[in-house]
Amino acid sequence: MTNEEVIKVSQDVLAQTYGRFPVVLVKGQGCKVWDVEGKEYLDFVAGIGVCNLGHCHPKVVQAIREQAGKLLHVSNLYHIEPQIQLAQLLIKHSFADRVFFCNSGTEANEAAIKLTRKYSQDHFGAGRFEIISLLKSFHGRTLGALAATGQERFHKGFEPMMPGFKFVPQGDLEAMEGAVGDSTCAIFVEPIQAEGGVNLPPENYLQGLRRLCDRRKLLLIYDEVQVGMGRTGKLFAYEHYGVAPDIMTMAKGLAGGVPIGATLATEEVAKSFTPGTHAATFGGNPLSTAAGLAALRATIEDGILENCQRSSVHFMKRLEGLKKKYPFIKDVRGKGLMVGLELDREGKSVVTDCLKKGFLINCTNETVLRFIPPLIVTREEIDRLVQALDEIFSGWS
Ligand SMILES: *Cc1c(COP(=O)(O)O)cnc(C)c1O
Repeated sequence: MTNEEVIKVSQDVLAQTYGRFPVVLVKGQGCKVWDVEGKEYLDFVAGIGVCNLGHCHPKVVQAIREQAGKLLHVSNLYHIEPQIQLAQLLIKHSFADRVFFCNSGTEANEAAIKLTRKYSQDHFGAGRFEIISLLKSFHGRTLGALAATGQERFHKGFEPMMPGFKFVPQGDLEAMEGAVGDSTCAIFVEPIQAEGGVNLPPENYLQGLRRLCDRRKLLLIYDEVQVGMGRTGKLFAYEHYGVAPDIMTMAKGLAGGVPIGATLATEEVAKSFTPGTHAATFGGNPLSTAAGLAALRATIEDGILENCQRSSVHFMKRLEGLKKKYPFIKDVRGKGLMVGLELDREGKSVVTDCLKKGFLINCTNETVLRFIPPLIVTREEIDRLVQALDEIFSGWS
């Protein structure tokens, strides 16, 4: 089969929700993937921050094989061993005391929203339900998470939005303080905005949010769906800023490529989730949590964070070099291996040109090229991408 033949069928049978690039990927290993015609690509997308350990990490594959032969699924009517073990390990390495498992980022955020409302009702009565999130944020596509997402283009056509959400610009503590009212119960932010264009918080911003939350008795919720699991060089992005939340969501990289989501919370807050208040059939099922356990152990024990930090320094240095050379590069920014290069024009053609040269990259917010390679990426692989970008950019001037 050729890419073209497979794509023709795809266009007949699939809901056309995605603007896909014209390749069919059939195999992956480490930082490489191959299409159906055998062409090799270096992957600087990693399933949008899912394959942090690289494709088909041997320890994750092994855990999936073993678990698949033992027990694939039972209900949360019963206790599930790998689910408990994964929760233990997440708790050991984070602020949290309890974990609720689900299957995706948006679901983890739905659980966070429900837990926030329930906690607030339990403690302050029914009139306190409003959640303030940030402009340019992204929290998912189901109706609750969508309502929390501060980008109008995602809301369009799906109105009315669920009530109880308000948005302020990232980094503006005064605006946040001004937005808090009698009905506000929580502040909900990505510590670093990913889809919104790789936007880092200004210094002391998260500290300021924490102080505001403490003063006004609000919950602080972090969405670490994309920036968690080592992406920024620490296991969780919030560790860079030394400010813990009350609730945190994760998903993408958590199980090395298997669908999973998790909502973590402190004991005090998690108490509001009593039996019957929330559930997910597949949430924390034996297969996904066995994969998650293997992925989390590898992330912690196998030098993944160290490689992420080292590669990050090299990557940023090389991109800064490009910035000096090409005036149309406006900014290079990022944390760990969540890296953005902002152009003064649309970046889509760069993505297409990279694809032709055998590199998968992504463009977000129109003008920001985003690089989110597996955290095992080498300097040599980074150099190859930078060389390709250099060739593409040199054709522009
Ligand atoms: C991807 C993403 C989500 C949504 O995750 P899904 O698994 O696609 O539902 C939510 N928040 C952030 C920050 C994300 O990057």
